[in-house]
This record gives sequence, structure tokens and C-alpha cells, in this order.
Amino acid sequence: MAGRISKETIDAITSQADIVNIVGEYTKLERRGPNDWWGCCPIHGEKTPSFHVDGNNHFFNCFGCHKGGTVITFLMEMEKTSFYDTVLNLAKRTGIEVKYEDGGAPQQNYVQDNTVNELLELYDRTATMFSYFLLETEQGKQALKYAQSRGLSREIIEKFKLGFAPADRRWLKHFLKSKNYSDEFLAKSGLFSKNYPDVTIFSNRLMFPIFNRKGQVVAFSGRAMPPDDKERKYINSPELPTYKKRDTLFYFNFAKNAIRQNNKVIVCEGNMDCIAYHQSGLEYAVAPLGTAFTEEQLKILQGFADTILLSFDSDDAGQAATKKAILMCRRNGLTARVIQLKGGKDPSEILNKFGKENLTAQVNSAILDSDYFFIRLGEKYPVDTPEGKTKAALEYFEYIDSLQSDIQKESCLDQLSQAFNLKPEAVKRDFNNRSQAKERANFRQEINTKPQNAKIKPDAELRGLVAVIADLNQFMVLRQELTEDDFKNPIAKQFFHILEECSSEDSFSINSILSKCTNEGLVSLITDFLSSDLAKSSDAGTIVRDTIKLVKKNKLNDQREKLMQRIRNYQIVTDDDRKQLNNLLAQKLELDRQVQKLQK
Ligand SMILES: [Zn+2]
Repeated sequence: MAGRISKETIDAITSQADIVNIVGEYTKLERRGPNDWWGCCPIHGEKTPSFHVDGNNHFFNCFGCHKGGTVITFLMEMEKTSFYDTVLNLAKRTGIEVKYEDGGAPQQNYVQDNTVNELLELYDRTATMFSYFLLETEQGKQALKYAQSRGLSREIIEKFKLGFAPADRRWLKHFLKSKNYSDEFLAKSGLFSKNYPDVTIFSNRLMFPIFNRKGQVVAFSGRAMPPDDKERKYINSPELPTYKKRDTLFYFNFAKNAIRQNNKVIVCEGNMDCIAYHQSGLEYAVAPLGTAFTEEQLKILQGFADTILLSFDSDDAGQAATKKAILMCRRNGLTARVIQLKGGKDPSEILNKFGKENLTAQVNSAILDSDYFFIRLGEKYPVDTPEGKTKAALEYFEYIDSLQSDIQKESCLDQLSQAFNLKPEAVKRDFNNRSQAKERANFRQEINTKPQNAKIKPDAELRGLVAVIADLNQFMVLRQELTEDDFKNPIAKQFFHILEECSSEDSFSINSILSKCTNEGLVSLITDFLSSDLAKSSDAGTIVRDTIKLVKKNKLNDQREKLMQRIRNYQIVTDDDRKQLNNLLAQKLELDRQVQKLQK
């Protein structure tokens, strides 16, 4: 079939592509045998290595998530690309010529992926032009001077491919049209105004290319220069098939090797901060793209480093971002430290004022996240008063919540009692009470926000069981007579199970029951019952007795019905069969007797 890549090409690629090197771009690998490499799985994310790469046989496998395969499978998983695209990219990378089966031509209907390649080419070309304008032309001089005044060296400007977008807003369109790009394609390229397709959104700006993890330019961030930088300091590219803000980081492509080697990463405020760190030799710095640091971005970093060094602004917004990032890191099992810059408002100011040794020293003395919390809380609340202490403790509990290990939680609770001179037992009690209260609050919020569409129409079994809520002692009566299996209604079964659990855990209260319910319909049934007059007026004892009878009767009737069916369908061939049938008839009679007894 034409268009299918030949088996020989695929074999050549899997055996010649350097799988160790390629996987190494995603996670830190350690050699444990001549060609055996181990690391933390970049697919499922983990803390202890169970991911294995066999360099001899060109495959990988993970003992955690059980994914495995060739370098092609790996890249498809990591880059979320199609088989076809992955093979073509690898072919380019390894210099292997792609052959098609039966000498056929490349697949035809490949619009989406062609767009991706065309966009990458367009952005590469545009970045090269912008860079040329900045470094080589008269009109870029001003911008170059500005960049240098901000302390950016020529070397850095070239490495990060900084550029200048000409003041003439129509120049770019002319230029790209002359390279044979269609109007239709350019309109969707993210470089031009939606309403005026001949006019670019970037003009007279210092241009910072945004790279994907492979180092390809996928977007731009254009910075206004004085005196025009009062408003819209930055203009950024819109999202494209090649560019998603949430899972892209500034300069991750330049930083990833250093991150892996140092097992740590600096996450800072923006591109300028990031460049300042790189220029100081701290090449393990990245930054989110003018948005908050996201979970997706954290996941990218997780395979490369265990420690995240946070370097956000010292203003309120920066501090809020720091706190949020700490909690996110801890919830994902990463260690967080906070860089507290002194002597300047941002890394580039410090670099320019005091030099790179000073900046490096400040990074190396980044404080532990728990210490950061204590310092902040001390500034934020009057911790010499009981109210201040309570407020500070409550905020610190959020941090403890995010920790993954109970031992860590314990030691943080101890630290808290020491820091604020509180009784350790009281701190622990408050922490535990609060966790429960939080669960209840979440729960209530869930009840309030969940739509009513999951309403359950209760039958007699379920109604009877819900009635025990009015008098929880009645459940003890009920459970002497019935088990979960006796109920026919699946929701009643579920509810009985919850009630059993609560009574065995000694937490037999409405709140603990509600917090165990995951079925919205059941929750609203319970809360409706509680808020109705029925709960006050009903005699739970009578209802429970009736329910026991009803459930037992239902169960017997069920058994009887099944038995009847067997009797009706019974075929007698041998004498033994006749004996069996008599046996079944006797069982039926016994069931009839039991049902009658219940009805009395
Ligand atoms: Zn895995």
C-alpha cells in the first residue's frame, strides 16, 4: 500500500537511534550495567527508579506503569505525536532515508502534521530574521543598546536568539509572502492581527523566541522598550498547534541537561530573570510563560530534578505564587526551597550590581520551604498573641497537608509547637480537628454545588435504612438481624456498608456517615430526610423493626422465586432426579413457612 513506511526503515531507525540519549532528554538515567540504564519513569512520574533502558537491544520498559517498547513508542508517548510523525522526525535526526512500501509516496491526507512542520519552519525563519535585524541592522541598534543596558551579553543574545521586530507593521507579511507562504496559512500563524491580516502583532519590540523542549522556536514574547513600555510591556504569541502555554517553560531546552546534572531547577518569574540566571552560569533556570506555574509544567520538571528552587518576586503576588508552588511541589513529592534575593528587586539587578558570584551564593543559600513558611507567618500575623498564633498555625496546616509522608507531618507539627511555643498535644488536636472540619466543609460544598439530577427514588428497604439516621442506636438493632448481603437495593447495600464501617470505627455520627458517602443521590436522600419533619416525628424503632421484616421477606421471596424456577424447569430422567426434585420441593415448603411466620 502506498504511503506506508517500510519495515526496513522502521527497523533501521529503532536500531540506530540512540535510545539512551533520547530517553535521557526526558529523565535522568544512571548506568547500572554495560548498557543498562535506570531512571525515574518520565511517563508515569515516580520517585524511585523503576524505568529501564536496554541500550543493547534498543528498548525501554517500566516496572511501575508497565509501558515499554522502542524509541518510537517512547517518543509517541512523550511528545504525543503520531507514529508517522515520530518516525519521520527520527529519520531526520538519524539521517536515515525513509522508504515506503512498494516504492509508494508519503501519506497524502496529512494536513494537521504538515501544518505543524510548516509552523515550525515559519517560526524558525521569522526568528532568524528578527535576530538579523537586532544584530546586523541600523534599525535594530536601539534595541540592541537597550538589551545591553539590561546587562545582556552578546553571547547570551545570540544563544537565546533574541531579535528585533521592525517598526513597520507590514514588513513581516511582505517578507513571508515573498517566501511563498499563503495568506490563508499566515492568517492562522499567530503572527498577524485577526482583524488586519496584513499587520503583525509584533512591531518595534525586543523579541524573545519561546522554544519547545527540542529547541525549536514555537512562539514569541515581544518586549516593549522605553519610552513605550508603560503599557503592554509584553505581547505574547497566541496558542497554536505547536504551542501550549500551560506545558511550555521558558528555556527548558537550554536548561534540561543542567537540571538533570544538578538534580535541581530554579523556577523564576519570567524570561529576563531566567536569562540572568543562565548568564551567571546557573543554567538550570526556567520560567513559566507570564502565567502561574502550572501542574503540567511541574510534571515536565519532575522527571529531571528532585528539588525546585522558587524565585518569584517579593511583592504580594510573588509571595502568593511562591506559596501555591510550594504546596504543588510537596503534593507531587518534590522538595521546594525558596530563593530570597537581597540587594535588588530581581536576579538581573543583582547580577548587574554585585556580579554572578553574589547571585550564585544567594541561590545556594535558598531556604527550606518550611522555614520560609515560618518567616512569612511571623511577618503576616502577630504571633505573640493567641489569635495570631491560631491564624498562623491554621495557615501552616495547609503546608502540612501537602506533605506526602506522615513522619514529615509529625515533625512539622512538632516544629510548629516549638516555633510558636504551643503545647504539642494541642497543635496535633487542632490539626486533626481541622482536617475533619475541612472534609465536612468540602463535603457540604459538594452537596451545595452538585446538581440535583442524581435524585434517587428510594424503595421501602432504602427508606427504612435511612430512618436509622434519626436514632443511630437503632442501627445496632438492625445489624444484629441483617447483613449487607440481605439487601436487594444496591444503594441500600452501599449505605449499610457505610453504616457498618462507621460503627466499627467508633465514628458513628451524621458527619462521619456523610463524609463516607460518595453517591450524591444518597447524600441528598439523607440530608433531605434530616431536614424534613419526618426525622423528628418518625419512630425509628418501629421503622427498623418493619424494615428488618421487609428485607427478610424480600430475601425469602427471592430465594423462593429462584427455587420455583428450578422446580418448573426440572427434567426427570433417573430416579436420582426424582429424589433431587423432592428435595427442592421440601426446601420450597420450608421457605413458605418462613414467609408466613414473618407475616404474622
Ligand atoms: Zn512508568
